[in-house]
Amino acid sequence: MHAPLARPQRIARVEPLTLTRAFRGPFDYRLRPEQSDVGVGSLLRVPFNNRKTLGVVLALASESALAPERLAEPDAVLPPGVPADLVALAGWIATEYCSTPARALTLVLPPGTIGRVLSPKRVLMAELTDAGARALRGEGPLNDRQRAALEALERDGPTVAAALGTPMLRRLEGRGLVAIGLSDQRRRPASVAIGRRLDGPPALTGEQQAALDEVVAALQARAAPHAGTAPHADPAPHADPAPHADPAPHAGTAGSRFLLHGVTGSGKTEVYLRAVQETLAAGRGAIVLVPEIALTPQTVGRFQARFGDVVAVLHSGLGQGERHDEWLRLRSGEARVCVGPRSAVFAPLADIGLIVVDEEHDASYKHEGDPRYDARAVAVRRAEQHGAVLLAGSATPRPESAVALTRLRLASRIDGRPLPPVEVLDMRGAHHSLHPRTRMALADVRAAGGKAIVLLNRRGWSNFLCCRGCGHVWMCPNCEVALVLHRAADQLACHHCGHRRRAPSRCDECGSVAVARHGAGTESVEQEFREAFGDELPVFRLDADAASGKGRLARTLAAFEAAPAGVLVGTQMVAKGHDFDGVSLGVVLDADQTLRFPDFRAEERTFALITQLAGRVGRSEDSGPPARVLVQTLAPDAESLAFAARHDSDGFLAAELNRRQVLRYPPHGSLVRIVCSGPEASGSAVASGAAEALAVATRLHGLIAPSGATVLGPAPLFRLRGRSRSQLVIKSADRPATVLAVGTAVGEIATGAVRRGVSVSVDVDPQ
Ligand code: ADP
Ligand code: ZN
Ligand code: ZN
Repeated sequence: MHAPLARPQRIARVEPLTLTRAFRGPFDYRLRPEQSDVGVGSLLRVPFNNRKTLGVVLALASESALAPERLAEPDAVLPPGVPADLVALAGWIATEYCSTPARALTLVLPPGTIGRVLSPKRVLMAELTDAGARALRGEGPLNDRQRAALEALERDGPTVAAALGTPMLRRLEGRGLVAIGLSDQRRRPASVAIGRRLDGPPALTGEQQAALDEVVAALQARAAPHAGTAPHADPAPHADPAPHADPAPHAGTAGSRFLLHGVTGSGKTEVYLRAVQETLAAGRGAIVLVPEIALTPQTVGRFQARFGDVVAVLHSGLGQGERHDEWLRLRSGEARVCVGPRSAVFAPLADIGLIVVDEEHDASYKHEGDPRYDARAVAVRRAEQHGAVLLAGSATPRPESAVALTRLRLASRIDGRPLPPVEVLDMRGAHHSLHPRTRMALADVRAAGGKAIVLLNRRGWSNFLCCRGCGHVWMCPNCEVALVLHRAADQLACHHCGHRRRAPSRCDECGSVAVARHGAGTESVEQEFREAFGDELPVFRLDADAASGKGRLARTLAAFEAAPAGVLVGTQMVAKGHDFDGVSLGVVLDADQTLRFPDFRAEERTFALITQLAGRVGRSEDSGPPARVLVQTLAPDAESLAFAARHDSDGFLAAELNRRQVLRYPPHGSLVRIVCSGPEASGSAVASGAAEALAVATRLHGLIAPSGATVLGPAPLFRLRGRSRSQLVIKSADRPATVLAVGTAVGEIATGAVRRGVSVSVDVDPQ
C-alpha cells in the first residue's frame, strides 16, 4: 500500500442542462478540495459556453483528456441533487426514446430546480394562550367571531392565521389571548375525498387473496438478494454498459411482473393496497402510478387513508413548493409510498420493492413532450434497477401487457352483481341525435330519479360550421382542421392549436346569415338535456372546457356524486375509474368518433371506452331502473363493439393480437414515428416550409432504411400550428437496432435540419 504523495485530482463529468442537441456532454470539470461531497447526481452550477448553466454529474474520474489547467471549476454545488439510480434511468430514457441526456435529466430533477430556489414557506401561525383558554371559560368579553376563533384554536391547535382572519387575531393578540408568530409550514398537499370511505381493510375475496399471494411470493423472492444494497448508496451496479439493450431478464426477474386483469369493480385497488402494505412491512418503498390525478382523486384518497403520512403525492396540480417538499420527504425516507401520475415513476425513493401501474391501458402514461417516454416502460426498467415487483392492473389491458406480463385474474365484481348488459344501437339513417331507445332509457332514469352518464368524445357545441349559401367552412388559420363552435364563450376554437375567434353571425365569404352547425358536442348535448329535463334531472358537464380552472373538475365529480339524481355528460373523462353509487344508465353517443380514428389502436380504445363506461354503471343495489349501457354507432358490426357488448376481454385480446400479428404491430413488432415540420412564415413560404420538411424526412428515410426496418413515408400530415409536416413510420422486428438507427440518423441530420428551420420529433412506441 502506497500513500499517494499528492492529493489525486477529482474530475466531475457533467452533463449541462441545455436543450440544444448540438452541445452533447458530458464535459469535464475540476473539483475543488472543499467540493468533496460531490458525487454522481450532484447538481452543479458550471461555467459553460461563456455563461453559467446547471449541470448534473454523470460520473467521477481521476483524470481527464484535457490538461488540468484547461479545466474549469464548478461555481457551486446545489443540494439536494439527484439520486444516482435516477441519473442512470435518465441515460436509458435518452437512448430509448431518441432524445438527449440533458432533456432526459430534466425529468428527474428535484421540482423547482429550474427556476427559483425554494426555501421553506414561512407563514403566520396563531396559537391559543392560557389567558385565551381562560377567556373561553367566561373570563372576559368575547364577541361571537372571537369566541369561534378561540374555540377553533383550542380544538385544532396552532393554525395558519389567515385561515381565521389575521386582523381579528392581531386584536386578540393585543389582549394576550393568542400568540402569533412566523413559522415554517410544511407544504402538504390537501387530500381530496370523493366516493365511498372504507373504515378498515376489508377481508379479501378468494380471488383477491390468490392474486395477492402471487405478488407477495414475488416480493419475498426479490427482497432477499437485495437486502442491504440500497441503490442510492451504490450507484455502480446501475452504470449500464449497453443502454440500448432491453432490460435483460436476469435471474429472478421472471415471475415478478404481473398484470392484474380484473373486471371493473373487482377490487383491484384493494390488492394494490395490500401489496403496498406487504412492501412497507418488508422495509421497502412503493410507487403507485395512477392516470391523471384530478380524475381519480378517490384512488389517492384510499392510499392516504390507509397509510397516512408515509404517503407522498406528486403531481402537477400541486404548487411548486408542495412538490418540492413532497420530493424531499421521499428522498429522506420520511415518506415511502409515492402516489402520482406518470412523472411519479421518477420518485426519489431509495429502495423500491413494488411499482403499481393502475389502469395501465390509460393513454396518459405516454408523455407528449420530448423525451416522449412511456411511464409503463420506464416503470418496468426502474423495477428492474431496484429488484422490484411490477404490478399493472386494468379491466381492459393492452395487448402488449397481456403478452409480456404474468396474468392474475379477478373475474367477478366484489358485490357479486353482473356487469350491465350492453346494447349496440344502429344509427344509420337516424334523423335525431338520440336513438329512440336512448330517449326511452333517459326518460326511465328521469322517472325513477336516478343517474345516468352520457359520453360523447367531442367538446364544444358543434363539429363544424358551414355556410348554407356558399359552402364555406370555418377553418383554423394555423392548422388544416375545422374550427369548433363553443357557444357559451361565443367563440370558434381550434382543438389542436388553441386558436380562437368570435363566432360569426354571417359568412366571411358571401355574407349570408344562414350558417349551419353540423354535428353535436358535449356543450350542445348538455343544453339539449337541460331543455328536455328541466329541473327534474340536473345536468352536469365534464370535459376539458368545463374543467379548466383548478378544482373545477373535482367539484363537478363531487356534485354529481352528491346529487340524488342527475345526468353527467362529458368526454372520455366520464369513463375513468369513478366509483359512483346509483348510476343505472351509461350511453355512448358516437362510438364512431374513436372507432374512426386513423390509428392502429382505434379498436383497443373503443373497446376500453365502452368497457370502462360499463364499469361505472350498476355499482350498487338500487331500486332504480335495471342497469344497462347503450352504444350508438354508424358501424354496428364493428368487432370491438361486439366484444365490448359481450364483456369478452379475453376474446377481444385474442382477436386483437391476431390482427396485430398480421400487420406486424406491437407487440409483434415495434413502431417509431418521426414527424418533420417546417415553419410557414408567410403565405408565400408555405410551399418552402413543406418542401424543407419533406427533404429532411426523405434524408432520414435514406439513413434508416439500411437498418433493415420497414420505413413508410414520407407522408404529408395536415398542417398544424402553422407548420407543414411530413411523417415517417418505421416498423421493425428488431427494436434495439431500430432505435439505435433512428437515434444515429436523427443525430446526423440535426444540425442541417436546424439550419433549414425544420424540427424533428421522434416518437418511439407512439400511442
Ligand atoms: P376496481 O378498481 O377493480 O374497479 P375497486 O377497487 O374500485 O374495483 O373496488 C370496488 C369496490 O369494492 C370499492 O368500493 C372497494 O372499496 C370495494 N372492495 C374492494 N375489495 C373489497 C373486499 N374484499 N370486501 C369488500 N369490499 C371491497
Ligand atoms: Zn357563404
Ligand atoms: Zn389550429
